[in-house]
Amino acid sequence: MNAVDVCVRGAGPVGSCLALALSRQGLSVALQREAARAPAREDVRTYALNAASVQLLRELKIWEALPADARCAVYDMHVEGDAAGSALDFSAWSQGVEALAWIVDAAELERVLAAAVSFAPHVQVVGDVRVDAALLALAEGKASATRDKLGVAMPVQRYGQSAVAARLLADVAHAGVARQWFRSPDVLALLPFDRPQPTLSYGLVWSVPQARADELMALDAAAFEQALADATGGAAGSLRLCSERAAWPLSLARAERVCGPGWVLLGDAAHVVHPLAGQGLNLGLGDVKALAQVVAAREPWRSLGDERLLQRYARSRALPTLAMGQLTDGLLHLFASDLPALRELRNRGLSLVNGLPPLKRLLASFALES
Ligand SMILES: Cc1cc2nc3c(=O)[nH]c(=O)nc-3n(C[C@H](O)[C@H](O)[C@H](O)COP(=O)(O)OP(=O)(O)OC[C@H]3O[C@@H](n4cnc5c(N)ncnc54)[C@H](O)[C@@H]3O)c2cc1C
Repeated sequence: MNAVDVCVRGAGPVGSCLALALSRQGLSVALQREAARAPAREDVRTYALNAASVQLLRELKIWEALPADARCAVYDMHVEGDAAGSALDFSAWSQGVEALAWIVDAAELERVLAAAVSFAPHVQVVGDVRVDAALLALAEGKASATRDKLGVAMPVQRYGQSAVAARLLADVAHAGVARQWFRSPDVLALLPFDRPQPTLSYGLVWSVPQARADELMALDAAAFEQALADATGGAAGSLRLCSERAAWPLSLARAERVCGPGWVLLGDAAHVVHPLAGQGLNLGLGDVKALAQVVAAREPWRSLGDERLLQRYARSRALPTLAMGQLTDGLLHLFASDLPALRELRNRGLSLVNGLPPLKRLLASFALES
């Protein structure tokens, strides 16, 4: 194929958004999509997206293209610890924002992005062909083979946990309330959603030790629903399974370098975090925004693959990536520990933060904007 300005390898949400963002600057982009190895199973996940990600999706004309029932606003969030009364509540109202987050259908987001890139001017969707480009942007996900070929190390800390995801139907309206339980060693999140039924659906993300994940995956629907009822105490009503279940092994990882001459890493190819704070894709879309800004502001004489240019991107992403990795890892260890002193500390901490509105506002704004 003809030479292009940028080759984006990996057409997941991060690579697709990057291709769209760069094409809007008039750059020619080849987006390399992997041929499906097996018939794809529908992704049952729902993503919690923050205000910054939604803004990017609006700019790329993706947000309005999502069907109304594939995006649902979160107005309140209720977090419970593992002692009676230890809880933390956030609300969009007290935060002074339209919504704390938006819950988006992962499969629908990928479908809308695939349609958008196929119509985008300056974007060619290609397979595994040789592409001449000034810049190779790698958005291949956490198992990026090109990153490995470039010799970029990405030390991985495996948590020995998996996240079990599914869609649920409740018998009580969710009212836009997200619920999360931090109960050593489980972290369970119910994300309000409108599919398959408006106001009654939830996306489930249940992070548990691997052996428990295997058990939960093997239970029949009735036994799984009973396990959910035990874990949530009926706080969201009676919950019924309405999709397949899928499990993802969890880890923390950060590439030692995110750029070099002529190449750059974005999304899960550059960093992986535990989904307990629902921030992995938000970080990846933050990468897209930052790289697009750096590219748009480059000096006219500077090549797109100039490492000095790409270092500007690397510098702008270093702190948010490190901070999110440390925050999710710290929370996980704090809430996974069985030590009585830590248990006491975390439960008191939740109640303490709950009584300090300025600190709560600070925590929420970090999650909304990072
Ligand atoms: C259970 C769970 C829940 C989550 N919930 C949230 C949430 O609520 N909010 C949030 O922000 N994040 C969440 N995340 C994180 C989020 O899923 C990831 O951060 C996000 O999918 C990363 O997107 P990506 O495009 O970088 O990588 P991927 O989604 O992994 O996409 C990479 C793409 O590259 C392709 N590819 C790989 N190699 C090649 C190649 N050589 N050539 C061409 N293509 C290639 C792959 O086929 C794939 O399509 C969650 C993760 C899990 C596991």
